Amino acid sequence: EAGRIADDEGLSVYVVGGFVRDIILGVENLDIDIVVEGDALRFSEKLADYYCAHLTKHDRFGTAVVVLEDDFKIDVVTARKEYYEYPASLPVIEGGTIKDDLFRRDFTINSMAIKLNKSGFGNIVDFYGGRRDLQMGLIRILYNLSFVEDPTRVFRAIRFEQRYDFRMEEKTEEFAIKAIESGILGKVSHERINFELFSMLKESNIPAILERMEQLHILKKVYPQIMLTNDLKKVLRNAEEDFAYFSEKLNHPESPDRTLLYLLILHSNMDHENAAKSSENMRLTKEYKEEILKLIEVRDRVLSNLSGNVDISYYDVYNELKGLSIEILLVLCMISGEKKVINRIILYINNLKNIKTYISGKDLRDLGVKPGPEYKLLLEEVLAAKLNGSLQTYKDELEFLKR
Ligand code: ATP
Repeated sequence: EAGRIADDEGLSVYVVGGFVRDIILGVENLDIDIVVEGDALRFSEKLADYYCAHLTKHDRFGTAVVVLEDDFKIDVVTARKEYYEYPASLPVIEGGTIKDDLFRRDFTINSMAIKLNKSGFGNIVDFYGGRRDLQMGLIRILYNLSFVEDPTRVFRAIRFEQRYDFRMEEKTEEFAIKAIESGILGKVSHERINFELFSMLKESNIPAILERMEQLHILKKVYPQIMLTNDLKKVLRNAEEDFAYFSEKLNHPESPDRTLLYLLILHSNMDHENAAKSSENMRLTKEYKEEILKLIEVRDRVLSNLSGNVDISYYDVYNELKGLSIEILLVLCMISGEKKVINRIILYINNLKNIKTYISGKDLRDLGVKPGPEYKLLLEEVLAAKLNGSLQTYKDELEFLKR
């Protein structure tokens, strides 16, 4: 239908970029990007009308989003020519042809289009060798200054490399290394770098991405506090398998926040000062920052107090772990790697965490205890006895109190 609407309007219309790449690879991709040679706004209005879909227009940029369903949307832009006034700046934009539009893209594999008009429908437009590179598994820039003009492409190159098990073409890698060595990443705003970080944390192969970032000396430059030691690499490599194992073992209603899990792992070997610096540098939300600092605060104590050499009661286990989030608990299991510690944490999550006493302050009052600090102490004692298994029923708890 997009093709028919385009024909009616006398415009040439193409689907471009990641969608085309993934169709050729046979990978699902729900983000459709359409480029219009001409007025994208007019075209998007007709398209939204036809599908009775919601339309968001950005008049200033001449772009629009047609939302068909919650996770199914079409971005529509006017074909454009871009140039950069200075390295790492934002580009200056002018109207252009589909060829210009494809040339401003990051890599050849992302620079293909498929025509939607009736004449030529389905034809792949491939000016820059995208199909060849897809076949050879190569990430290749379109022009030599690509990384200098937009250094965030270095992160994108690594992401696509690791996602599809491709590699950077030789010259492309050389240009990437030169761009990194020139220090140009330092000119990119925190927002854009962090956008790349969070895109990476959504990928399935996070450890490989981080190791590649380390190999290319990027990690040191953008996240100097991260210490990718052999121990940490091991934790990262096992992470997905560990998550799956724990999700099966745990009676926990919500699935953990995967991004937070990885952020915790990345900070798990830092001291408080570096963890605070790093999470500030990453501009993390207050909630994420607090989680990270909490992990650092409890890490050493928990790991030593729950280790196999220590003989402790269920109540002690409860006290060590109470109030910690499921993500922190999982990461403690993963960085410890010790069976006894892991079993104690699982026991806490599955059995101890939700144990509460039946009796309450009201029962204490009825028994004639005067309100005050003693209340709390008594309730704690009942909870301790209950966690350690000596109390089952409400009556048991009352009897215990009376004694
Ligand atoms: P993903 O599957 O990760 O969403 P994608 O290729 O669809 O990959 P987007 O970030 O949605 O990635 O970008 C859409 C298209 O826009 C890309 O395919 C590419 O052609 C172009 N693009 C995105 N970022 C850049 C960039 N920094 N420089 C040049 N072109 C870019």
